[in-house]
Amino acid sequence: MATVKELVADHSRQFSLRGRTFVSVYPVFSRRAGGISVGVNLNLDRGCNFDCIYCQVDRSAPPSPQLPALRELPGIVREELELLFDAISTGEFFSRPPFEDLPENLRLVRDIAFSGDGEPTLSPVFLETARIARDFLSKKTMSGDPPPLRLITNGTGLFSRDLRTKTQEIFLEQGPGEIWLKLDAATPASFDRIDRSHIPFSRMMEGLEEIVLSLPVTLQTMVLDFGSPGSPGSLISDRTFWEPLLERVALWSQKGARIRAWHLYGVARTPALPEVRRVEPSRLLAYAEEARERLPFPVEVFA
Ligand code: SF4
Repeated sequence: MATVKELVADHSRQFSLRGRTFVSVYPVFSRRAGGISVGVNLNLDRGCNFDCIYCQVDRSAPPSPQLPALRELPGIVREELELLFDAISTGEFFSRPPFEDLPENLRLVRDIAFSGDGEPTLSPVFLETARIARDFLSKKTMSGDPPPLRLITNGTGLFSRDLRTKTQEIFLEQGPGEIWLKLDAATPASFDRIDRSHIPFSRMMEGLEEIVLSLPVTLQTMVLDFGSPGSPGSLISDRTFWEPLLERVALWSQKGARIRAWHLYGVARTPALPEVRRVEPSRLLAYAEEARERLPFPVEVFA
């Protein structure tokens, strides 16, 4: 029997149903989505152009040697979505572990989310698979409104205007959908420490600004501490972290950014690096309060 808290902490990609071990699709309970989120993992090799210190993906072990060929992945995703949604509609899904004790009001599919073990927009089959998921949702008969298609991204694939336009069509225009865009840092030092990417900070800020000015997005920021205060390599998300971040978002807002909301969230699942520490909720709430006074869109906390 798993509690809601345990389900929030467990976003395992391992899922099997009716004797089939899933390759890409993985259902989890999402505190931010407020129900079941059906994840789509296109980065089976765990490839990412970031190496976030809070990432829960363990890249120390080699990927499975039995990965399917990339060209087969979109078809696999369709099959897995069909099987999973069939089990949900018959009630089978909620009669088995780990979701069998989920309260009735949380037994809702809140989204199909492209997320997974790396940056989804970098996958060569991202657009093809997203079209398949959209087509699946459009044709599927369900009780109630169909869940949205959600993209959870660090934005780097969307720096390409062409990919951005096609993503907008699939995720935002062909049916209900959202783009959740990561913004973890607004200074070169904190970006280098938190996201550990080879992409220059100035390029990141320029690219993210292009995205927020052209697409409606929900911003998401992980607020964490790393190591003990004063210890070598430590990082504390104090005012030197927070003020540039708020300034950056306020500036984008003044320029006409289409930001729908800003999610500030704390560590909920075990990251790969043990030095990552959860911040006390009061710090997140104080930052959110300050942001609400400056910004014209909702600021939500998931501590
Ligand atoms: S962008 Fe996402 S998948 Fe990539 S390292 Fe960061 S948290 Fe992990």
